Amino acid sequence: MDRDFAHSITEKDLIDYIAENLPPADMARVEKAIRASKDLMAILNALILTYSNEEHSVGAIWQRHRLSCPTREQLSNFLLDAMPKDLHDYIEFHLKTVGCDFCQAELEDLKALKKANEKARGDRAKKALQEGVRLLQQQSGKQPRPPRS
Ligand SMILES: [Zn+2]
Repeated sequence: MDRDFAHSITEKDLIDYIAENLPPADMARVEKAIRASKDLMAILNALILTYSNEEHSVGAIWQRHRLSCPTREQLSNFLLDAMPKDLHDYIEFHLKTVGCDFCQAELEDLKALKKANEKARGDRAKKALQEGVRLLQQQSGKQPRPPRS
């Protein structure tokens, strides 16, 4: 990680990043810097909150385009720590920095399921959790949908 680059990132860079107004190479570099810096993450979070109340909400643009929600199965694997580090970091970023309400609620559901299933052992517990997720998905039929326009 290039320290100087992290320090050179301005608030405008972060806003452009949220709105995806940067060339792909810069998007990747800013994102990398954000993930490596808790300070930048805090600033980013504040910016998203600030702009989420505006008419052309940068926060809304962010949620719609930049960070699509992980699937429930991915969240389940996130809890089980059974996924590549990149994806794990991405979901953590989505939950903690973006603070996606939908995914936080999903994660709470999955945590409750996991706790209930921890009474069982080893692979059986893992299998039961996966089965529980499948059943819940069938019951609720509730999937994140793109807004109608
Ligand atoms: Zn989400």
